[in-house]
Amino acid sequence: KATLEREFLEGLNDVQREAVLHDGGPLLILAGAGSGKTRVITHRIAHLIRVRDVPSRRILAVTFTNKAAAEMRERTETLVGPYGRDAMIRTFHSLGLQILRENASLLGLKSSFTVYDPAAQKSLAKKILKDLKVEAALLPPEAALNATERARERLLDPDSYAAETRKDPYHQSIAQFYREYHKRLREQQALDFSDLLYETVMLLQTNAQLLEMCRRRWQHLLVDEYQDTNHAQYRLVLLLAGGHRNVVVVGDDDQSIYSWRGADISNILNFEKDFPEAKVLRLEENYRSTPSILKLAASVIQNNSERREKTLFTNRPDARPPSFRLYQEEGEEARSVLSRIRELRSAGVRLNEIAVFYRTNAQSRIFEQVFREANLPHTVFGGFRFFDRKEIRDLMAYMQVLVNPLDVENFERVLANPPKGIGEKTLESARFLAGTTGIPYLEALRQLAVKPGFRGAKPINAFLANYERWTDLNESGERPSVILKTLIEESGIVEYYRKEDDPESVSRIENMQEFATALADYEDRAGAENREVDIAEFLQSVSLYSSESDPDLEEEDRQGVHLMTLHNAKGLEFRVVFFTGLEESLLPHRMSLEEGNLEEERRLVYVGITRAMEQLYLSACRFRRTGGSFDPRLPSRFLEEMGIQTRRERSYDEFDSSWSDSSRSYSERKVVSRPAPDSGSSALNLVPGDRIRHKSFGTGEIEDTEKTPAGTKLTIRFDDGTTRRFLDRYTPLERI
Ligand code: ATP
Ligand code: MG
Repeated sequence: KATLEREFLEGLNDVQREAVLHDGGPLLILAGAGSGKTRVITHRIAHLIRVRDVPSRRILAVTFTNKAAAEMRERTETLVGPYGRDAMIRTFHSLGLQILRENASLLGLKSSFTVYDPAAQKSLAKKILKDLKVEAALLPPEAALNATERARERLLDPDSYAAETRKDPYHQSIAQFYREYHKRLREQQALDFSDLLYETVMLLQTNAQLLEMCRRRWQHLLVDEYQDTNHAQYRLVLLLAGGHRNVVVVGDDDQSIYSWRGADISNILNFEKDFPEAKVLRLEENYRSTPSILKLAASVIQNNSERREKTLFTNRPDARPPSFRLYQEEGEEARSVLSRIRELRSAGVRLNEIAVFYRTNAQSRIFEQVFREANLPHTVFGGFRFFDRKEIRDLMAYMQVLVNPLDVENFERVLANPPKGIGEKTLESARFLAGTTGIPYLEALRQLAVKPGFRGAKPINAFLANYERWTDLNESGERPSVILKTLIEESGIVEYYRKEDDPESVSRIENMQEFATALADYEDRAGAENREVDIAEFLQSVSLYSSESDPDLEEEDRQGVHLMTLHNAKGLEFRVVFFTGLEESLLPHRMSLEEGNLEEERRLVYVGITRAMEQLYLSACRFRRTGGSFDPRLPSRFLEEMGIQTRRERSYDEFDSSWSDSSRSYSERKVVSRPAPDSGSSALNLVPGDRIRHKSFGTGEIEDTEKTPAGTKLTIRFDDGTTRRFLDRYTPLERI
């Protein structure tokens, strides 16, 4: 035992030991990033099992993501091997699922109940809204489901929700929906994801016997990332810990980043109120990051007002100080990250020790593309690869049917996204007609619409008119990117998602814009090779992106570089972090600014920075493409808070020259990064044949000029052989 004890206490500092040895009763560890909170949890589990002889099945540890739970199980196994087998190490949802399975009868369910996935939820929601005669225009199914989920998180049953709801038609429909949805789920012997917490809490609140059983069953409760618990999760912790009060929670209020999903930072700040006898420990040594990385993190987070002051220091030696680069545009940023990764790799860094972070899902696209073209193994975490995302597939279906009118699958996808009010029966008849007579699907629809007495003709005709206009555009030889933009604008798909009123749809809209950017990019590159692009060719090039990675690579290398949003990075650590897109309106995100949630954006930055162990590369772009045009961007205000400017000289000098020569140092942005309209080269009245000099790309010749509503677009062939396009008013050029 003594040997074991020593083993579990080894590699821990005094405060961590105190936490591991803590007798029982409530314990709160509120401490900064990388200070070993998660480590304390695993070592405490080991200690409880092997030294204090607590049977492993009496231990319950909960955390947030499956990845985090898996990692915790792994770390525990490393410490105690098979002795830890029966310890429950779970996410909140899988804990709920287990309790509900074992006690399904108490809810009037069979233990074989189904848990509906989002697709099943949505299909049920649609049926209900139809039966309730609620127009999708008033309340789209996603919005209804989203509101239901929020209600569940707040533990409101349909009655209390209805009671506290505003009396306008929109909110009344939601209340009505919630009641019906709840009822139908039960009739179908089904639960949805948010039920797993909601029903568990309801059950434990109303069934004293069961609650008592659970408290006896799990005599030690440990919770990681407590700062991100929502109300239902918080209630669950209070209920389970209520008897024995052996509850250890760890967290960092500075890392609370899920308020948009109902997480409530006050849960951790009020722990001492909920458990007045709680012992509170603070960990102040960070074992993860170099001093300069920590300093950077501190300089940002100290600007938040609602936080507990914490000290955090490190004894690690300093390596390369964090650096900042300002790029011309996101393609340059991605290529520069790529070349840096290659250097790191030849210097012995494994690819899976490297991560690229960004704020929004849409930003993954350019990295995926550049990495793929360079055959650099990479994995996008916590989401689909860009071109596999639903809204992108939807848009591709629209493009596909313009070039292939016989494609029934894609037509049906188009007709359903967004819903066009064409009934299922009509679609079936059209399919049948097309199948039996061999006429194109669309023609079949058209014939149905003119049938005397047919009542659903209006939406069909509306769609046909759109479709004809779009095919005309395509046949007239219009550029694919212009067609795509027209599709995005006229298909109603953006308004549809906008109405959904959920953070996910903001991301979908951003993805669609990014898709248009990808296409414009593609055209530019083809243009540089004097090649014409058509829709079919573009779609084909995209389909290549979903192919598999190289099977010959080592397992770790096959996973490759980790690409993820800041939200998915919580709790993880990497030797090298590229933190990209530090620009106003991305970070802080426009939406959060509108909602007055600046402090949460700052916490996101803090989470991002503190994932880095050795090297941190921050970057931003001066222009970012949205659709076809370049929008000027300002560097994020958080960079200023980091005092990047004063640090510039040193980190700039330490940069290898190969790390993108064309990028700018921070101070230069003061001069040129706020391009007021007409501050560029528009006064020069450039014409094809003129010789120019560009600050980053050097000398070249104007190849073409094109008047657009946004200004004159210049195509410049640079002397290094590249061709690039710019809007003249944003591009400072010199005539030579
Ligand atoms: P976060 O807030 O990001 O979740 P955390 O507080 O949970 O961080 P851990 O992930 O537990 O921190 O620890 C950070 C790193 O420091 C890990 O690699 C861990 O193994 C290491 N570490 C923790 N404590 C010590 C220690 N006493 N000695 C050496 N290394 C340690
Ligand atoms: Mg942790």
